[in-house]
Amino acid sequence: MIRIYDTKSRTLGSPPASGQVRIYACGPTVYRDVHLGNLRSFLLPDLIRLALAAHDADSFIVQNITDVGHMADDSNLDTSDSTEDKMLKQAAAEKLSALEIARKYELGFFQDITALNIRTPDQTPRASETIESMINVIQKLMDKGFAYQGENGSVYFDATKYESYGAISGNTLEQLKPGHRLLDEIDETKRFHGDWALWKITDNRRSELTWQTPWGVGFPGWHIECTAMCLDAFGDQVDIHTGGIDLRFPHHENERAQSNAIVGKEVVGQWVHAEHLLFEGRKMSKSTNNVVLLRDVIDAGISPAAVRLAFLEHHYRQQLNLTWDTLVAAETTIARWSDSIVSDQYNHAISDQITEHLADNLDTPTAIMAIRGLEKSLAKSPKERSMMLNAASRMLGLDLAKPKLVIDDSVIKLVQEREIARANKDFNLSDQLRDQITTAGYWVNDTSSGPVIRRSIKLP
Ligand SMILES: [Zn+2]
Repeated sequence: MIRIYDTKSRTLGSPPASGQVRIYACGPTVYRDVHLGNLRSFLLPDLIRLALAAHDADSFIVQNITDVGHMADDSNLDTSDSTEDKMLKQAAAEKLSALEIARKYELGFFQDITALNIRTPDQTPRASETIESMINVIQKLMDKGFAYQGENGSVYFDATKYESYGAISGNTLEQLKPGHRLLDEIDETKRFHGDWALWKITDNRRSELTWQTPWGVGFPGWHIECTAMCLDAFGDQVDIHTGGIDLRFPHHENERAQSNAIVGKEVVGQWVHAEHLLFEGRKMSKSTNNVVLLRDVIDAGISPAAVRLAFLEHHYRQQLNLTWDTLVAAETTIARWSDSIVSDQYNHAISDQITEHLADNLDTPTAIMAIRGLEKSLAKSPKERSMMLNAASRMLGLDLAKPKLVIDDSVIKLVQEREIARANKDFNLSDQLRDQITTAGYWVNDTSSGPVIRRSIKLP
């Protein structure tokens, strides 16, 4: 039985013990590259999947692609006009259509999660292809008296009608001040400052990403997108809903109010949130000019597996201050572990421990500590160490046995020549060859089972 922290009840709880566990994960907004902070929260559903798999439980993950509407990400720091659609703004900047922008960054998202060995979700619905469902659920909310049309034609959720608003974040309606930066922009046609737009009417200012509805031409509000895609995928019951901690309010609060109002009961069993990621002590955001992409890390010569390990060494509910030093240290560990794998055999002693740690609210730091402890005690037994690391790798998705580098033939030739020089005890030649290997951007780790070629790390 696995236990995971539920933000709403503020307690540890368990997903259903039988049947497939249904997981909805808030996905990327595809108008720019996802950064390491986003990737940390995208790792969360994969960890839950692995924890369940360790207990022979099956899961089904749905993760949405937000490719329409204006996004709340960074909106509290963004000084630009918050009503501007970020997708359209980026399309203009890159001289592409909004759809081309969406597909370009969606592909980037899939490439990044694949590199991090995050299994592709079972379903990845796109907001732009779910408009009909959004119109249906908005109509349901209007029929039930939870939504109204403002004087400007836009449709709003009536927050005062939903009694338990604020249960996830603790931000009750009484506490919300008019014009709160995190709520929708101040809108005079709302009845109450805590209401939010479900459908925004445009007056022909936009040429792309608008749809015809019974209320006029416009585009959906962000929160209703997730409600529509989640209910479409799972009907009236979702076991676990994940996201980054910054989505707790207002996104998840509003999504919960909408979904529960439509279905007439609590839709989500557990709300699970990943904490913030800082980089070199600062929030990762474009507005503070502190954005690091997975590509930047790979370009520095650090493998995606090292990024995954650095994430796992910190509990998902702890704020993580990632630094280049942490990543370099993780790369060293990954390289050592990879080099220790001598066959694809694996044993079960560590598996039981990892299973237990994962069940304890995804306690990956303790699992990693257990691996390090066992690694030391197995130092004299390469075969057993290999079996242990293989088992750990499978359970935590570290991918240690996979070859990670495509190395130029010219570099491989230099390494082979260096081996011959070393065998002939021609150390002058061997040093020269090592220098040439370094110039080519690699270094050689001389292990007991032969030379292992590594890319040199060059931090930006
Ligand atoms: Zn969402």
